[in-house]
Amino acid sequence: MTAKRKILLVYTGGTIGMIQDPQTGALSPFKFERLKESIPDLDNLDVDISAYSFPHLIDSSDMGPERWNEIGNVIRNNYKRYSGFVVLHGTDTMAFTASALSFMLENLDKPVILTGSQLPVGVLRSDGKANLVNSIEMAAAVDEQGRAKVREVCVCFGDSLYRGNRITKYSAESFTAFHSPNFPALAKAGVHVKWSDKLNRIHAKSTQEGFRLQSELEHRIFIFKLYPGCPFCLESSFFSRFRGVVLETYGSGNAPSCREFEQWIKLMKKLHIPVLNVTQCAEGSVEMGKYAASTLLQDCDVVDGRDMTTEAAVAKMMYVLGKGLSYTQSCKMLARPLRGEMTEHRAL
Ligand code: ASP
Repeated sequence: MTAKRKILLVYTGGTIGMIQDPQTGALSPFKFERLKESIPDLDNLDVDISAYSFPHLIDSSDMGPERWNEIGNVIRNNYKRYSGFVVLHGTDTMAFTASALSFMLENLDKPVILTGSQLPVGVLRSDGKANLVNSIEMAAAVDEQGRAKVREVCVCFGDSLYRGNRITKYSAESFTAFHSPNFPALAKAGVHVKWSDKLNRIHAKSTQEGFRLQSELEHRIFIFKLYPGCPFCLESSFFSRFRGVVLETYGSGNAPSCREFEQWIKLMKKLHIPVLNVTQCAEGSVEMGKYAASTLLQDCDVVDGRDMTTEAAVAKMMYVLGKGLSYTQSCKMLARPLRGEMTEHRAL
C-alpha cells in the first residue's frame, strides 16, 4: 500500500475564508478552524492534510513581495515534509502571487497550487468547496512512477488547473474568474480529471540543482500603459526612482512615433532602466519589428515580452532585477522564457 500524500494548506486570507460583518456588511477574513468546519468533507479525502495559517489574514489587495516571501518561506521550511502545497489566497491579486512564486521557487519539483473563491465558503452557493477539494486532489495526484503529477506553480479555479504565470483575473462575478489567454489549461476537472501533456514543461534547464527560494525582489517597477495622447515625462528624476518599466503597448507591440516618445525611450536606455514590452490586448503576442511603429523599441533595447501577461511581466522583472545583474544581463534574462511564462517559438 502506498503512503498517503501529505498536503500542507497555507491559508493567507481572501474571500474563501471571509465572513460578513453584521454591522457594516463588509467581508473580512476569519480563522482557519472556521473554514475547516465549513468543509467537513475534507476529512474524507484520502490525503493527509495539515494547515498553516498566516497570523494576519489579509484581503489579497494587501499582498506584496514581503508576503510572497512569507509564503515562500513556509513552503521552503516544509518542502521535505510534504508532497505538495495548496495556498488559499484572495482572487484579486492571485495572478501576481502565482507569477511571483513561479519565479521565486527555483527548481520546484512539487505541486504548489493556489486557489480561492468568489463567494465565502460558509455561503450555500459558494464555489470555495469545489475549488479547494479539486486543488487538494490535484496536488495529491501521482503518475505511474509515483511522482507528483504537478511539479510547477498552478492556479486551480472553476473546473480548471492553469499555469500560475499565464492567468489574469477576468471576472469579478463569474465562478470562472480567471482566463489563461495564451496558454491552454493544464487539467480539467469533470467527472474525471483530464491532464494536459503541457504540464511541467517549463524548465529551461533540468531540475538537478536543488530547490531554493530566491527572496530578493526588486519592487520599484513602473507599469506604463500607453493611451492616445498620453504625455511622456522626460524628467529623469521621476523615472530614476524606478528600476524597471513594464510598457503596455498597442496591438502587436506598437508605440507612437512622436519625438517625445523617442526621447523617453532613449532616456530609459541612458538610465539603464530595462523596459519590457507587453501588449494591452487580452490575447496574442508582441511582435517587435512587424510594424514600423515598433522598430524604435527594438533599436533602444526594449525587451520583447511576447505573450506574457502584465502580471507575469511585473513578477518576472521583480525576480530578474532582484538578482543584481548588469543592465545587459538583466535584459537578456528578461527576454528568455524562464518558467513557461511566455511562448518559446512563434509562428511568423
Ligand atoms: N478581495 C478579495 C481578495 O482578493 C477577493 C477574493 O478573494 O475573491 O482577497
